[in-house]
Amino acid sequence: MEPLRIAVQKKGRLLDESIELLKECGIKIDNGRDQLKAIARNFPIEVLYLRNADIPQYIQDGVADIGIIGENTIIEKNKEVEIVKKLGFSKCRLSLATPKEMTYKDVKDLEGKRIATSYPVSLQLFLDRNNIKADIHEISGSVEIAPNIGLADAICDLVSTGSTLFKNGLEEQDIVLKSEAVIATSPKIDAERRAILDRLLFRINAVLEARNKKYLLMNVPTDKIQAVTALLPGMRSPTVLPLAEKGWSSVHTVIDESRFWDIIDELRITGAEGILIVPIDKMIL
Ligand code: AMP
Repeated sequence: MEPLRIAVQKKGRLLDESIELLKECGIKIDNGRDQLKAIARNFPIEVLYLRNADIPQYIQDGVADIGIIGENTIIEKNKEVEIVKKLGFSKCRLSLATPKEMTYKDVKDLEGKRIATSYPVSLQLFLDRNNIKADIHEISGSVEIAPNIGLADAICDLVSTGSTLFKNGLEEQDIVLKSEAVIATSPKIDAERRAILDRLLFRINAVLEARNKKYLLMNVPTDKIQAVTALLPGMRSPTVLPLAEKGWSSVHTVIDESRFWDIIDELRITGAEGILIVPIDKMIL
């Protein structure tokens, strides 16, 4: 069987989490940092380590069947690839930012201004949509210092926490686009490899579903079960098992980790005891 060829970053922000995801899917890949490609030992995929900016082109041309890549890179490179799964990591936004002292009410204030960016295509699309004519100044890095050295009036750059902007006296003004890591597929992928992709996506879904969920177990006085289950979001029928001690039951359910902290106090007030929160490794819905 021909393996599914998957492009990942050779180096960069997405690499570690891309490889970790494949590992969590039970796929064993030999460390390929010095290699260009590596064959998985126990699943029909071949990993191609490529430069981030080249990945959309390789996928479009069918040199790689799929890739793990930031959505923003696909838009910037303007390639015909299909996004089949958002992966929930490397979340960031491409944003416009201006020096604190510049007045900025809305995007119209950028008319006629110079904007420095490493993402000229995405920025131009945004300016066109808003009927703004500005002078895009393309630079390949350290965009955030451009206003300070008089190279530009504003910048357009990727932001995740905003601390780089803050350190450089810049204020985030408008979001051009939001991005996260995705699986993109080639228009040229054949049926045999698409079948492998479906198997891979099945595993990825099981891993991602489990990531933010926890298995919750607690002891509850049997007469309080209704009150406790009413607090559990979205769970129509948690598992209820009798304890050896009369009048007590064990209640089990799956819950979003973020929701758990919202209801923990109420669970205790209602009478739940011995609450355990257990990680879930994989979840198949
Ligand atoms: P790299 O090859 O390390 O420059 O990775 C670039 C990709 O990482 C970008 O195209 C984004 O999809 C993603 N990314 C996520 N957060 C950030 C961030 N704060 N700054 C730059 N890139 C980011």
